[in-house]
Amino acid sequence: MYDQICHLSIEEKVEALTRSLIQIKSINGTYGEVEIADFIKSVLQTFPYFIEHPAQVWEQSIADDPLGRKNIFAFIKGKENSQKTIIYHAHLDTVGIEDFGSLKSDALHSDQLAKYFSTYTENADVQKDAKSGEWLFGRGSVDMQSGIAVHMTNVLYFTEQLDKLSGNILFMVNPDGESQHAGVLAAVSELKRLKDEYQLDYVAAINTDFITPLYDGDETRYIYTGAAGKLLPCFYIHGREAHVGDTLAGIDPNLISSELTKRIHNNINLAENIDGELILPPSCLYQRDTKEAYNVQTAVSTYLYFNYFIYEKTAKEVMQQLIHVAIEACQEANSFRLLCGVFKAHGFTNERFIMGYTNCKFRRLYPRVDKQRNRPVFVY
Ligand SMILES: [Zn+2]
Repeated sequence: MYDQICHLSIEEKVEALTRSLIQIKSINGTYGEVEIADFIKSVLQTFPYFIEHPAQVWEQSIADDPLGRKNIFAFIKGKENSQKTIIYHAHLDTVGIEDFGSLKSDALHSDQLAKYFSTYTENADVQKDAKSGEWLFGRGSVDMQSGIAVHMTNVLYFTEQLDKLSGNILFMVNPDGESQHAGVLAAVSELKRLKDEYQLDYVAAINTDFITPLYDGDETRYIYTGAAGKLLPCFYIHGREAHVGDTLAGIDPNLISSELTKRIHNNINLAENIDGELILPPSCLYQRDTKEAYNVQTAVSTYLYFNYFIYEKTAKEVMQQLIHVAIEACQEANSFRLLCGVFKAHGFTNERFIMGYTNCKFRRLYPRVDKQRNRPVFVY
């Protein structure tokens, strides 16, 4: 690969490497993650500096990983014998390609996609970009094969300009960035080993994952400093299953799950309030009941996961906030259930009950139960 890119400009090198990386199907949770790791390692090994210092490109296997995934590292030692080290960091996997629909077979073929979108009339913006020849299409093009390409190009640059490098560069790519982060978690021990053995002083880590405009037409290319924490609060909701003919007697975990999603997903009031910063609200990344197939029984249980960015809040504070939300959601679901019980006691069928309940919701009436007369009453 070095022979193919050494004569190119920096920008052209980034593009050529990005094109090669996109073509490797490196979907999270597949063997493709191993293939792309091997490719990255093999490209680095063609750089003259690493031919001279072969031990400075290496891999770290991820323990007990069923796919045999690995982290790839490369180290450039600066001329001044400094301990100061900058980490170049990227994840090597992509999300799936199901969302390409009928274009799935072209998801990794940038030129075919550009050709397709150049005649695409459904979205004038995309068509314009495809026609311009200035855009590179394909799964992983921004998240984040081009980021890896930028790092590799910079690695090549500094290996050829060692006099400009007063410290050291540690290049690191990890699998599983789109799911459980097995790669970067395993890399922590390797980073610590290097720090202890060579007294490295990690002064900064540069991650080249994608950035997005803040609004339509925003031309600023942002560089973010600092770090944000991520939590993945999960709910497991165990209900009481019921046959479709007797659902008034059950507890539907999907109802509670929906109440939780309604209260948490994109709820800006749950995001941290830090002056001058847009903090993303929590978002639902997984909501699924445990039914294996369709049947006429309500679900037994449901799983629900949220992505939660944190800056200053602690995990404990988020947990307390979510427990509070969970209590509210259950109370709402329970008021529905109470109502079910009363309707059922009065011999309402499912169908009549649903009509009554929907109607009452629609008219913004709030039901409560008149215990003395044991029937529902509706108040404004
Ligand atoms: Zn990413």
